[in-house]
Amino acid sequence: MRFLIMGPPGAGKGTQAVLLAERIGGAHVSTGDIFRANVSEQTELGKVAQRFMDAGEYVPDEVTNAMVKDRLAQEDAREAFILDGYPRTLDQVDTLDGILTEFGSQLDGVLSLVVNKEELIGRLLKRAETSGRADDTEEVIRHRQDVYTAETSPLIKVYRDRGLLIEVNGIGEVDEVADRIEKALPH
Ligand code: AMP
Repeated sequence: MRFLIMGPPGAGKGTQAVLLAERIGGAHVSTGDIFRANVSEQTELGKVAQRFMDAGEYVPDEVTNAMVKDRLAQEDAREAFILDGYPRTLDQVDTLDGILTEFGSQLDGVLSLVVNKEELIGRLLKRAETSGRADDTEEVIRHRQDVYTAETSPLIKVYRDRGLLIEVNGIGEVDEVADRIEKALPH
């Protein structure tokens, strides 16, 4: 099974993606996690990504697309994966389509976690108290929501039109949301 998980920053997609990857026995591929690992190891990729991340901007598509292509070519992601935080732009959708066509595979569904903006900002400010993430200041938090609305929310329509979109209410306890996801996914 191959799924995307989408949702605005703070919707809990990382947490749900880990649980879902365990359940379907697939690779959890989070572009945010891969970027953060590169930043902490100070790789060349990390140095490029860091200034965009710290400002709450997207890392340029050509950098992100190349990284995802490498990752999805790895053995553990060939049969099943949860792609978390990618694609985030229409250009990334095109690249992902190309990668999947090349591998002769296709998506089984696109999970969209729905949470309202005020709830999200409240959650992120709370996370900021403990996360130590440089992109967790109030100004950057608000900017990341705006970038999501402008760049990523149009993808919801793309996947809805393809008949792949599965919308799930993202408000509630982790287990509750995980249950809703389990019930909503194709089996
Ligand atoms: P996340 O942990 O998914 O919220 O990602 C953290 C940050 O990494 C984002 O705010 C972006 O700066 C960068 N990032 C993650 N995924 C992508 C992507 N698909 N395209 C561009 N930038 C990304």
